[in-house]
Amino acid sequence: MMLAADIAPAVDIVGALAAAATTRLGAAGIETARLDAEVLLAQACGIDRTTLYASWRRAVPGGCRARFDALLTRRLAREPLQYIVGRQEFWSLDFAVSSAVLIPRPETELLIELVLRVLARTSGLLPDARSLAKGPCSLRLCDVGTGSGCIAVALAHELADATVWAFDLSAAALTVAASNVQRHHVAERVHLVHSDLFAAAGDLCFDAIVSNPPYIRSDALGRLQPELAWEPTHALDGGASGLDVIERLVTQSPPRLRPGGWLIMEIGADQGDAVEQLAHAAGFRAVSIAPDYAGHPRALVARKA
Ligand code: GLN
Repeated sequence: MMLAADIAPAVDIVGALAAAATTRLGAAGIETARLDAEVLLAQACGIDRTTLYASWRRAVPGGCRARFDALLTRRLAREPLQYIVGRQEFWSLDFAVSSAVLIPRPETELLIELVLRVLARTSGLLPDARSLAKGPCSLRLCDVGTGSGCIAVALAHELADATVWAFDLSAAALTVAASNVQRHHVAERVHLVHSDLFAAAGDLCFDAIVSNPPYIRSDALGRLQPELAWEPTHALDGGASGLDVIERLVTQSPPRLRPGGWLIMEIGADQGDAVEQLAHAAGFRAVSIAPDYAGHPRALVARKA
């Protein structure tokens, strides 16, 4: 009698493995099943996705199958793809990530655009923010809750004359941020500081404070997609109202800003009115809420008098 094992192919074919994994990931409720299967298989084989496609009908090299199964098991447990492969793109730059840091989100790129826009406008004579790099006086920027360092690195990358102080209360996050600062060759201009908001800031004052603070309401956290459970709670949890850290940040920012300086901060789509009020109460003038590309309120833009 012939057993199933006897008629099963002796080797694993790349395309067949990818298809089977896509089915399993899809059945587990993962919307990006096909993409994830391909990324993980390429990772297991140590190749990029283009090379994977070129090898579609070939046998997987020895050792890949076991590595792929291990990666697939992690993804089926809803561990984010970015933690499994250890990287995420932000502002077209490649960032190392681990479960010690929030995974950079595309909507956070809006903060970088807004900073470049307000600094260009503030400088008046300069046609665009990049020109500030050639200006005589250097900009002092601050990234509160830097996590992977994505905001601080992107700003230092865009503004060659800026110095960025990047604060985080997590020492483990600062280790990841340090690797990204090195990777993008901005270590001379990005200072990583272990600090709860401005606690360790001494008497520093900034031209702009930028932050993507935790702003999800505690009771909503468990109802969102399962991948969020893998990310650091302190990077997401904004307390009972979602506004705990936002309120502290808005209140503590004015004394940390030079006259005419800016606070640019990501917010939840339903927090625009509340955050606008907080900013007015803290004494900011020219307060506005900027929408993201989906049209949702996404960032506070507030200027100190
Ligand atoms: N500044 C980092 C980012 O956006 C981390 C933010 C956080 O941990 N809340 O993505």
